[in-house]
Amino acid sequence: MTTIPTSAPSATKTLGGTQLARDIRAGVTSAAAELTLLGLPPRLAVVAATDDESSAWYVSSIAKAAAKSGIVCDVVDLGAGATPQGIRAELEKLSADPAVHGIILQTPLPAGANFEDLAASIAPDKDVDGANPVSLGRLAAGLPAYAPATAAAVLALLDHHEVPLAGRTGVVVGRSNVVGKPAAQLLLQRDATVTICHRHTRNLDHYTRTADVLVVAVGRPGLITAQHVAEHTVVIDVGTNPTDDGGLVGDVDETSVSGRVAGLTPVPGGVGPVTTALLLHHTIQSASRSQHS
Ligand code: NAD
Repeated sequence: MTTIPTSAPSATKTLGGTQLARDIRAGVTSAAAELTLLGLPPRLAVVAATDDESSAWYVSSIAKAAAKSGIVCDVVDLGAGATPQGIRAELEKLSADPAVHGIILQTPLPAGANFEDLAASIAPDKDVDGANPVSLGRLAAGLPAYAPATAAAVLALLDHHEVPLAGRTGVVVGRSNVVGKPAAQLLLQRDATVTICHRHTRNLDHYTRTADVLVVAVGRPGLITAQHVAEHTVVIDVGTNPTDDGGLVGDVDETSVSGRVAGLTPVPGGVGPVTTALLLHHTIQSASRSQHS
C-alpha cells in the first residue's frame, strides 16, 4: 500500500537581497557623483567606541561600501575607554557640521553608556540609521523619519519580491528598537495586522503559525523550525549568528522549514546587503535635502 503524505512539502522561494542591494547601490553611486559635481560630496560618519572585532568588521564593510559608491565615510574611533560625555560631544559636533550628512553610532558601547540616550544627540535629519528615539517616535506617529536601515531592508525585500501586505498578518519576533519595533511599525504603516513576540511570549508557535509574513530578529540560531510556520508564510530572517567555521546563520532552521513555507530570505545574502545599501541611500537622501535647507 502506498502512503500518501497529507501535507506534501511545497516549493519555497528564496528571497535573495543581493540583486536589490546592487540596484540600490547603483542609484546611490550615480546620485553621489551628481552631488559631488555640485560641490556637495555626500559624507557619512560612523562613531565607534569599542574594540569588539565583529563591530570593527561591520564598520569597515560600511566604509568600503560607501567609498565604492562615492560617499566619503569618516570612521571616528573613540576607543573602548570613551566616556558617555565624550561620545555625546562627538555626536553633537558631527550633528552641527554642515559637511556631514549621515551619522551612525556603532554598538556595542562602553559599560555605562546607554545607546538610546546617546543617540538622542544625533540630529534627526542626519539620523540615517534611525537610532534617535525621536526617529522611532516619528515613525510610530506616521511622520517622515529615517527608519533603522535593517527594518527598512525588511520592507524593501518584501516589496522587491512583491509580497502583499495590506490586510495580511505580520508577526515580528523580537522587539528591539533597531529591528523588531520599527519593522512592526513599517508593516503597520502598510496596513498589515501586526503581532510582536519577544522572549516572554508563551507558545511562540501559536502566533508565528498565523503569519502571512514572519519577521524574525532575535539572534538565536534554530529558533524557528517547521512547527512555527505555515505553508503560506513568507519568512524574513534578520538574525545573523556567527558559526564556529567563520560562517553566518540566521535564526531560522533553513533545513527544517524548507519546503514548508512560501518564501525565505537566505543568510547571508538576504537582509544584510540591503541594510548596507539603504544606509548609503539614506545618506544620499540627507545630502540631497541639505541642498535645499
Ligand atoms: P536584541 O538582542 O536587541 O533583541 C533580541 C530580541 O529577541 C529581544 O526583543 C528579545 O525579547 C527577543 N527574544 C530573545 N529570545 C527570544 C525567544 N526565545 N523567543 C522570542 N523572542 C526572543 O537584538 P537585535 O539588535 O534586534 O538583533 C536581532 C538579530 O538581528 C541579531 O542576530 C542581530 O545580529 C541581527 N541583526 C541583523 C542585521 C542585518 O543587517 N542583517 C542588523 C541588525 C541586527
